[in-house]
Amino acid sequence: MDDFDTRTEDRQAAMVALIRSRGVRDPLVLAAMEQVPRHKFVAPEQRSQAYGDYPLSIGHCQTISQPYIVALMTQMLSLKPGNRVLEIGTGSGYQAAILAEMGMEVYTVERIAMLHEETQARLQELGYTNVHCRFGNGYAGWPEHSPYQGIIVTAAPTQIPPPLMEQLDEGGHLVIPVGPLHGYQTLWLVIRHGDQFEKIDLGGVAFVPFVHK
Ligand code: SAH
Repeated sequence: MDDFDTRTEDRQAAMVALIRSRGVRDPLVLAAMEQVPRHKFVAPEQRSQAYGDYPLSIGHCQTISQPYIVALMTQMLSLKPGNRVLEIGTGSGYQAAILAEMGMEVYTVERIAMLHEETQARLQELGYTNVHCRFGNGYAGWPEHSPYQGIIVTAAPTQIPPPLMEQLDEGGHLVIPVGPLHGYQTLWLVIRHGDQFEKIDLGGVAFVPFVHK
């Protein structure tokens, strides 16, 4: 065991304590953040920074979100174990692993082939059998497994893709950053009540663009 390994637990506990102090209280979310080895989702040269509260590069011009934002978005989904969750923007697979650790059935879509392949292999190696990875454009969602009790989008479109609203279950929660291609976006929580969609502003965020081509 090197020095890094012996200190990993302390760093991870400090990360969770910080998230808690910033207001995330869902015990299922906090327990998952305590369990998932975030350092296995970042590039080897960034391992020592894996538990800092900031986003990190995962290559291909993409980023793994800051842990607090991952925790906040996950809490806002208001999930129960066994729920089906759709994620658009698999990236490193960290967010998907958090959801899987919480006992969800996770369906995740990524448009960069290499990321999709690397991440699918990583999640398999880590034993997350309840994550299903798909390569493609997430604009259309993944209708075959809908409706979803939760949908989380980790790249920012300029508008909410209508297929995602259609695939949300009654009472389901959608968490999505929406805004201009350059600059900050607004994080929205959308709750479905029949044909009505209640929208709650969760504040300003900075995500990579949602690519729709
Ligand atoms: N949730 C990820 C971070 C995602 S970064 C994690 O935990 O690591 C955003 C990801 O969204 C990138 O990998 C990007 O390629 C992907 N993305 C952007 N637009 C997309 C689209 N239309 N469909 C699917 N994935 C998309």
